[in-house]
Amino acid sequence: MIRQTVLLFGPPGSGKGTQAKVLEQRLRAAHVSTGDMFREHLSRRSELGIKIDHIMRNGQLVPDAVTNEMVRDRLLRPDVALGTLLDGFPRNIPQARWLDIFLAGRGYSIRGVVVLSVPRPALIERLKGRAMKEGRADDADEAVIRRRLDTYAAQTEACIGFYQSTKVPVHLVDGVGSIEEVTTRVLRSLGN
Ligand code: ADP
Repeated sequence: MIRQTVLLFGPPGSGKGTQAKVLEQRLRAAHVSTGDMFREHLSRRSELGIKIDHIMRNGQLVPDAVTNEMVRDRLLRPDVALGTLLDGFPRNIPQARWLDIFLAGRGYSIRGVVVLSVPRPALIERLKGRAMKEGRADDADEAVIRRRLDTYAAQTEACIGFYQSTKVPVHLVDGVGSIEEVTTRVLRSLGN
């Protein structure tokens, strides 16, 4: 039984991935990041990686059918049994509805949604910095960064309203501060 499924939301550059790595230890949850999984496919040049290459480079969302199937396979593995920290999924309402049905079918529920918020100018600066350090193709071009931020605002923010309407606790957390400060805020919001 999944003890807890926590969903981590935040625009590109909000520190989601960084927080997820700390939180997976603190919550003893398996960290499931769709962005990391897709990047792994890209670097292996798998069949899926070749298919999604141009989509990711352009800062667009991978089609739901592909994404949901990948998430399903991941969530059927045994290490998610104690708890799951979902990072980057769901990213739109159809994915959120799919996840609800999947979790309900397995008797699992969502413990809470954590939304990291950081002002847009700070996000753009952080992403440009990350492009220099990590060489992520989707961080290198400012037009692509803006498209990812727009996709988040248009599609992923709608999920927040979706969860509020289904009475899942939604916690808005200030993502500006040191890594430790933000972790403390997240854990406090979840009641840990
Ligand atoms: P960021 O949020 O910083 O842009 P991620 O690592 O979460 O980065 O995702 C990188 C890219 O992977 C996205 O721009 C998108 O193309 C793809 N992706 C990740 N998660 C999903 C998802 N749930 N649905 C569709 N595409 C996704």
